[in-house]
Amino acid sequence: MNVYDSDRMAGLLSHQGYRVEKDIRSADVVLINTCSIRDKSEHKVLSLLGELKALKKKNPEKVLGITGCVGQRMGRTLLQRVPHLDLVMGPDAIDRVGTLVGSVLKEGKRVLDVQFDVDKKRTYNQPSIVYRAKPVEFLTIMKGCDHFCTYCIVPFTRGREKSRPIAEVITDVKNFVQKGTKEITFLGQNINTYGKGTPENLAQLIEEADQVEGLERIRYVTSHPRDLGEDLIAQFGTVSKLCPSLHLPFQAGSDTVLKAMSRLYTRDEYLKKIERLRHYCPNIALSTDVIVGFPGETDADFKETLKVLGQVEFAGAFLFKYSPRPGTRAFSYGEEVPESVKEERLLQAQQLVHDILDRQNKAMIGTTTRVLVESLDKKAIHFTGRNPDGKLVHIFNAGEACIGKTLEVEITEASGSNLRGYYVGAPRTDRKSQGLSPSFVS
Ligand code: SAH
Ligand code: SF4
Repeated sequence: MNVYDSDRMAGLLSHQGYRVEKDIRSADVVLINTCSIRDKSEHKVLSLLGELKALKKKNPEKVLGITGCVGQRMGRTLLQRVPHLDLVMGPDAIDRVGTLVGSVLKEGKRVLDVQFDVDKKRTYNQPSIVYRAKPVEFLTIMKGCDHFCTYCIVPFTRGREKSRPIAEVITDVKNFVQKGTKEITFLGQNINTYGKGTPENLAQLIEEADQVEGLERIRYVTSHPRDLGEDLIAQFGTVSKLCPSLHLPFQAGSDTVLKAMSRLYTRDEYLKKIERLRHYCPNIALSTDVIVGFPGETDADFKETLKVLGQVEFAGAFLFKYSPRPGTRAFSYGEEVPESVKEERLLQAQQLVHDILDRQNKAMIGTTTRVLVESLDKKAIHFTGRNPDGKLVHIFNAGEACIGKTLEVEITEASGSNLRGYYVGAPRTDRKSQGLSPSFVS
């Protein structure tokens, strides 16, 4: 979501005549887009701001801004704490980024915009921009989250759920496709409830996107197990462009912990959803998020998490140590799990996930898979893309102008983190720089 938000800000600014300057030293405006989901990401922002102090001193005209969730959460405090900061804005101010940067540049003001969209309407509109379209694009279709999982800062930094109308989203999809995009991932913090409070819903959007000529793949993220209804599950068996992959965080395997997290489902209810998904789409690639060391989590609770990881055999899992977030309910729970125990549990879960992935991926050696090519590595040795399951695949013999194309690839090697192989339509080449350039020909 932050990658998309950053691209969007770059796009909006480019419409106003700015251009992207990658070198932070020569840029006139430096915007740092931030995440506050865990404490660590916030620390990184504060230390980066410290490092940029000297740069600002040398060039006081340079505009330095913080955007995103850290901006939203810390607001005025951040401006007070960091005197060399010119701009602080939250995620809801993205569409105003041009005006805000303009105020700093033209009027020399320090600017704060952490205003939420307080309009009671359940829909919102987002000016359409297509900025440097890529073969694979993200597209935000809603904002906010109405769940208040007790550990999570998102509802506080991104506000309540609001959805964009389907017609507006489909216009964006068509604009991307016209520029060569083949795959769209719809984004929302709680995407299954897209359209809540309106006559529209996610299943309808998926059906309409499936009709867009030239679009090859559709994905969406992130689903909440409670809100993933049978209509959405069934689409994995019926909508041809919907990729057979789904990210469905379970967070913890113990019902006691799930309750304390206010996740609104039990482990068995979660496993039932998996069963239904596999009923409609037997080979669906499932991925998940897990938090270890939530307050009060016992060894027995953690074992339940390992059990779910082992039982479902996910095709990917993001594993996190619980990080207390000020203002959330869990922040004042007490019963903090010691850091060393969190670390130990994280390692154990990582090992298990790695072993499963390693086994899964090695079983693919000798098979072929369809890869939508996205990029060329820096040394120009291999192209990289993803298969319908969302697995990362390196291809050694794909030729010029393959970015944006879907190639049949034979897998010859695999590890826990990726698959490697050769395009079946061309002779196998040596693994050295092919002297190609990463052009995207649509
Ligand atoms: N809306 C999505 C994702 C939200 S944030 C969802 O509900 O699934 C992405 C992931 O970060 C979460 O799934 C959770 O696993 C993790 N996360 C959120 N808050 C956290 C915290 N305080 N400490 C550790 N991990 C956290
Ligand atoms: Fe956070 Fe996701 Fe829970 Fe919403 S559903 S509060 S974004 S973890």
